Amino acid sequence: MEQQTIRTFQSTFLTWYDQNRRVLPWRENPQPYYVWLSEIMLQQTQVQTVLPYFERFIQTFPDLASLAAAPDDVLMKCWEGLGYYARARNLKRAAQQIMTDYNGQFPQTATALLDIIGIGPYTAGAVASIAFNEVVPAVDGNAYRVFSRIFNDQTDISQSKASQHFRTLIQPLIPKDRPGDFNQAVMDLGASVCTTKEPLCLFCPLQAFCQSYAQGTMLDLPVKKKKIKKQKVQLVAVAVRNEAGAYLLQQRPKTGLLAGLSTFPLIDQADLPEDLDLTQGVLRYFKQHYNLALQQIQLAPVKPVTHIFTHLHWTLTLVTADLSESSDLAYFSGAFKQPAEFAKLALPTLQKKLWTRLSQA
Ligand code: SF4
Repeated sequence: MEQQTIRTFQSTFLTWYDQNRRVLPWRENPQPYYVWLSEIMLQQTQVQTVLPYFERFIQTFPDLASLAAAPDDVLMKCWEGLGYYARARNLKRAAQQIMTDYNGQFPQTATALLDIIGIGPYTAGAVASIAFNEVVPAVDGNAYRVFSRIFNDQTDISQSKASQHFRTLIQPLIPKDRPGDFNQAVMDLGASVCTTKEPLCLFCPLQAFCQSYAQGTMLDLPVKKKKIKKQKVQLVAVAVRNEAGAYLLQQRPKTGLLAGLSTFPLIDQADLPEDLDLTQGVLRYFKQHYNLALQQIQLAPVKPVTHIFTHLHWTLTLVTADLSESSDLAYFSGAFKQPAEFAKLALPTLQKKLWTRLSQA
């Protein structure tokens, strides 16, 4: 957006907020302790549910010092029914941390707040902007929804880089004199107008700025792709050594995973004969596929290696075996290489992991 448009956007949005804001106890007195407490309580929990708990909590523990010294049974009684009890325990631990390490004063920037137990990027942004007027966004589900729609932005919010992307997108829109109100306006708009399933675009103060409204794509946003469940595959990695201490590296096919790269021979355990145990199955596999007669085959005394691709989760069991240097490798796509040569070869990370693990045996 251009500067003039940003100014109009800010004043329109804040005017709407001033006229429609939800009146909440932590907003009437936005001291850091109240803002922090409310944000932790609001995680996974509706505002209406939180309100009586908040009132009771601040009566019982009016400040950080009393929370830091809270008897566990009283603390849990105050939290009873709110769920996710780790939040209560973390609140007390964080209060003790602030009392001990910060002289009882909250850190005042989002970056510094991240060091406090239980505070993540959203809560840090909310506390820093509302309690300390730092010009930072507070990016949660509401912010994703509102701003992906305003900008008709197709970024997939299930990706970890989405958070930084939206932070960068939102930052220039935050008014320097009212960052906390801006972030709270986003929370209120997302909760009451720009809702997930039925956004009330006709009543939205930001309609004139909203690109998804103009294009009719509101209900397609934000983009949240389902995480693809990784298929689990069990493999055997065969470390085959000759008399000279060199290992057999196999060049993988020109297409597919790790295309053209060299690793220890890898066998999908599903391709091994079912009537034999793992090592005997590998022996037969080498004989049948490569016409190679392995000797001294055994399981390597190390933990399996895991390796993750976009759609696959590999678990590789390492076995070791010997093979004569003079063996005919006519049916095998690869060669013996000395470990000293590994560094010069362009080996994939998987092979480096296998070698490191084998070296621990
Ligand atoms: S116009 Fe509709 S989609 Fe756009 S911000 Fe407003 S409520 Fe959300």
